[in-house]
Amino acid sequence: MIAPLIDGFGRVHDNLRISVTDRCNIRCFYCMPEEGVQFMDRAEILTFEEIERFVRAAVPLGISKLRLTGGEPLLRRDLPRLIEKLAAIPGIRDIALTTNAVLLEKHAAALYGAGLRRLNIHLDTLDRARFERITRRDDLPRVLAGIDKAVEVGFRNIKLNVVAVKGLVEPDIVPVAKYCRERGFEPRYIEFMPLDAQSLWDRTSVLTADEIISQLSREIAPLRAVPDADPRAPATEYEYTDGGGRVGLIASVSKPFCLNCNRIRLTSEGKLRYCLFAIDETDVRPLLRSQASDEAIAAVIRSNIAAKWIGHEINSPQFVPPPRPMYSIGG
Ligand code: SAM
Ligand code: SF4
Repeated sequence: MIAPLIDGFGRVHDNLRISVTDRCNIRCFYCMPEEGVQFMDRAEILTFEEIERFVRAAVPLGISKLRLTGGEPLLRRDLPRLIEKLAAIPGIRDIALTTNAVLLEKHAAALYGAGLRRLNIHLDTLDRARFERITRRDDLPRVLAGIDKAVEVGFRNIKLNVVAVKGLVEPDIVPVAKYCRERGFEPRYIEFMPLDAQSLWDRTSVLTADEIISQLSREIAPLRAVPDADPRAPATEYEYTDGGGRVGLIASVSKPFCLNCNRIRLTSEGKLRYCLFAIDETDVRPLLRSQASDEAIAAVIRSNIAAKWIGHEINSPQFVPPPRPMYSIGG
């Protein structure tokens, strides 16, 4: 390692989220508009070789953990091939995938075969009508089949991402938690963030982590906080006092964790972002498509991170949402 990737606030970055596409096969209202989405041209999207090149340049700076996301990453043809390439890079210790699982039944075995072991599956509800209301697609049976297939091929410790929208998902909190308890999965409730394409978010539409803990404690079993194994992980972990497993809470709005941030992001067309909410981004694609050296790519990564701000300002009146919604950044 050359020298760790440290920003002006002393935060060390070892975690890279890579968006492999901005396309999606469903239309969650808190992420995408229902119609008229302008996706990027295929020629704009980084190739697997370009992504690999970026990662090889970032590893000597201390990047060791990767998460593949999108859009919907399983729409990217041959994704297992990318996983194999990335897993083969010396210094990469961990690769995870975030998916809506609509296509997981078809791809689970190949993903597992490529060496993937960590899956976050996005599922807000077990109610077919509410699933359709949220995603504008009637795909709940495919998602559930995808999850079953993932278990069948060997995935363990699956995490389920639930976006916590007030006035909508309260009836789903307990059923999803019970579904997870029965299967040994961990639900991760993520507070609704102002990253939707239609500017629907406001402060009152956030179902907070505290409200969710109270509901689960009341209706399933008491929860107690688990001492932080990794204080830089975004989720705060709780465990049921009856031994029925764990729950994760990502309180990005009610209790921002920016001071512990260790994450950087690469968008599908090669823009480097030091924060989900960043306004500024750095275009690394010209370097990846030229004869630039790894050192030149590393220098650009370093200068992007050096400019990282202290944190998002969701809770302040001067907050400005990023110009790109969640699906185009990579969640
Ligand atoms: N399509 C995949 C999926 O849905 O998991 C990967 C990309 S998606 C943008 C990544 C995660 O972002 C989702 O799992 C969902 O939990 C989260 N998400 C999307 N929009 C959000 C929002 N406005 N606030 C909080 N989380 C959001
Ligand atoms: Fe697609 Fe994921 Fe966004 Fe839902 S949250 S629209 S599944 S990218």
